[in-house]
Amino acid sequence: MRPEGEYFSKYNLRVVNFTYHLNKMKKTTTPTTGEPIIIGGGPAGLTCALQLKRYGLGSLLLEKRELGGLLWNANLVENYPGFPNGIEGSKLSRLMKKQIERIGVDVEREEVVSVRLEKGEIIVETQNVKRKTKCLVIASGTKSKPLPEIISPKARKRIFTEVWPIVETTEKQIVIIGAGDAAFDYALNLAKKRNFVTILTRGETVKCLPLLFERAAQETRIAYRAGVAVSKIEADETADRLVVESGAKTFEADYVIFAIGRVPNLDFLSDEIRQREKELIEMGRLYFIGDVKNELYRQVIIAAGDGLRAAMQIYARITNETDRENG
Ligand SMILES: Cc1cc2nc3c(=O)[nH]c(=O)nc-3n(C[C@H](O)[C@H](O)[C@H](O)COP(=O)(O)OP(=O)(O)OC[C@H]3O[C@@H](n4cnc5c(N)ncnc54)[C@H](O)[C@@H]3O)c2cc1C
Repeated sequence: MRPEGEYFSKYNLRVVNFTYHLNKMKKTTTPTTGEPIIIGGGPAGLTCALQLKRYGLGSLLLEKRELGGLLWNANLVENYPGFPNGIEGSKLSRLMKKQIERIGVDVEREEVVSVRLEKGEIIVETQNVKRKTKCLVIASGTKSKPLPEIISPKARKRIFTEVWPIVETTEKQIVIIGAGDAAFDYALNLAKKRNFVTILTRGETVKCLPLLFERAAQETRIAYRAGVAVSKIEADETADRLVVESGAKTFEADYVIFAIGRVPNLDFLSDEIRQREKELIEMGRLYFIGDVKNELYRQVIIAAGDGLRAAMQIYARITNETDRENG
């Protein structure tokens, strides 16, 4: 057994050392100028902000809509570990949002309209605010491919490219155009709420996970029609419905969802940034994370992993820079 004095003196020494190291760490992790800006509050951006916060670093997350991103559309996420029965995308989004709010990440509900270089600085502009940053993380995900020009102007307000705006409706007739995972996932989500869904695909090949197709096939509220190329969508104002035409065939619907594929959401990037992208990435001033750059590999866990990796790289760079500045 240690003599009491020795124990206390060792204990005090440990406290002193602990405080010394903590102060040193805090000092080295303070960014020299400007905190990282993250564009997009989906799983990628949220994870990046979360991990930066854990390092004691501030960041500013800019989100134009709702924290959680595209995940709000997912019917059932079954490939994110920790949820043995899967978890609805909306529930997982809420949990992520709650975690971000609890940890106190700085979030502004603003849409980024331009990102450009000005005298070597990265300038991020929203409708009302212009900010400059040394380090920008782009986690802006994807947007729908442009819709074909077959939709009459009066029909537009009932046409969507994601399911979340109508996910709470019931007993409606909904046409989904597409053949991939999203089309079938949307259909299952809507059928669960007692809507009647018709999936129309132009070709004969189903491109979704067999698992989703099997589930849709078992659902009496989902119909699937292959080889249907939609040529026109009009509004029937008297009946308060849409009429979807394919040659001589017509389908009536309250809403239509286009699930025809997605492309990176990067409209706000200036040509100069695009040209100097590689150089900025190598300098650690620009990061692309999540669906915006993942092409075929657009999944929550990959997006979140990208976010974590970016935060670790930002932290390492800031720590090295500060160490160098402090000699
Ligand atoms: C129907 C459906 C089902 C899915 N099911 C699964 C599944 O089961 N498992 C799985 O792993 N993945 C699934 N996914 C994919 C998953 O949702 C995405 O991989 C994930 O959300 C990507 O995260 P992200 O952060 O990269 O992008 P996103 O989630 O797309 O987030 C990007 C965010 O950036 C914001 N943003 C964009 N532009 C701007 C701007 N200019 N200014 C400010 N904010 C901006 C957007 O509003 C959005 O919130 C599904 C997707 C869909 C559509």
